[in-house]
Amino acid sequence: MHDASTEFADPDQVRALQWSKLDGIIQRTHQTNPFYRGIWEAAGVDVESVRNVGDFQSALPWVDKSMFLADQMANPPAGTRISTAIDPGEALEYYTTSGTSGRGSELHAQTTTELAAMVDMYRYGFTWAGLTAGEKMALTLPITMLAGGRVEYQAAVGFGMSVLPIGNYDAERKLEVIRQFAPTSLFGSTTYFAHLAAVSDEPVGNSSVRTLLTGLEGVGLSYVQRLEEAWGAQAFDRFGCAQMRADFLFSCEHGFGSAGSPGVLHAIDPFVLVEVLDPVTGQQVADGEYGEIFVTSLYHRDTPLIRCRLYDGGIYRAPGSCACGRSFSGIEVGSIGRTDGVKKIKGVNVYPQAVDKAIFSVPGVEEYHIRLFSKGEADVAQVTLMLAEGEAGSPAKHAEAVAESLRHATGLRFDVVIGHVERSEYKVARWTDERSRD
Ligand SMILES: [Zn+2]
Repeated sequence: MHDASTEFADPDQVRALQWSKLDGIIQRTHQTNPFYRGIWEAAGVDVESVRNVGDFQSALPWVDKSMFLADQMANPPAGTRISTAIDPGEALEYYTTSGTSGRGSELHAQTTTELAAMVDMYRYGFTWAGLTAGEKMALTLPITMLAGGRVEYQAAVGFGMSVLPIGNYDAERKLEVIRQFAPTSLFGSTTYFAHLAAVSDEPVGNSSVRTLLTGLEGVGLSYVQRLEEAWGAQAFDRFGCAQMRADFLFSCEHGFGSAGSPGVLHAIDPFVLVEVLDPVTGQQVADGEYGEIFVTSLYHRDTPLIRCRLYDGGIYRAPGSCACGRSFSGIEVGSIGRTDGVKKIKGVNVYPQAVDKAIFSVPGVEEYHIRLFSKGEADVAQVTLMLAEGEAGSPAKHAEAVAESLRHATGLRFDVVIGHVERSEYKVARWTDERSRD
């Protein structure tokens, strides 16, 4: 059963609950985990003097994936952060990351006990999206060595859903299973739902699907509204990361919200401590301000994750600031993006989220890809637009509208062409940078 008792509790009470879990994790990690102990000792941390969340934030250093990779390299295969403190007889689930950054693939793991706690965290998101046990759900993410797909599957099964794991099939077969089994929800990545709608022979609005559990990528509100319209369904977003091995931010019943009042991705505070820190001062930002996201798990006792820097940023929403009135903190939906993802084009800093927003604000655009290359000394930014089926009548008009929208958003001229863009069940890679550098 879903425990809703803390959702509307006093925020101080939620904080106290977080500390009661965190305290035990810090002590246990210090005793049993050479990886974190080494980092804390090197930073001169006196664990005994950390007595509340404030102490924790000021005293404990952050970690990131480069440290995980270094630990793995020095202590293969799993590194010292995973190899300890596991009870005999307790199974570990292993996950790798795709390692697209070229810096190698991270290895993550969690115990079956931790997985069971994770299910309780997802319970909040499923319940807020109006799902109930016994419903059929189609999972469009493939099941592989990546955490994405596997954890969603386990969370949905644990919640009591009848899960159709169609992620490893091609789009046509996915649609066939959806027609045959009539699931009430889809669970996967945002733009893939748009892809399914685009390639379906029959309008997907006639399907059984009424709930879309989107995620893995940021899109603008207008994009989501078109997606909701196409499926005749309401969308609810989520956010997670490989290091957490789970999603930990979920939309409440307000979903993506509206133009004047964007929805909130609520942190499931009893299970995760999300810090949103000012990039300059390192201090927690106030409601409505932008900051960098750091995450600490409050349920991984054997494979801890403590103050992990994600290199993602977003707009912080304080407890009680969402229209739902919940005491859980959060991040404004659609505001999350890479902090290291800014592109310098023709000397101008361009934010990928701003480009997403500008392009998807033009109706009829299904997907896009941007190729940056050099022409002599100059940067060229070429956008390939893939239009939704049925939009093919006026490609030049779409190209013009997108170029204008981009010029307005960035001040730069983009060359826009109409073409085909490769799809992915996971995140789409929207940028290729082929520029020559000295
Ligand atoms: Zn809310």
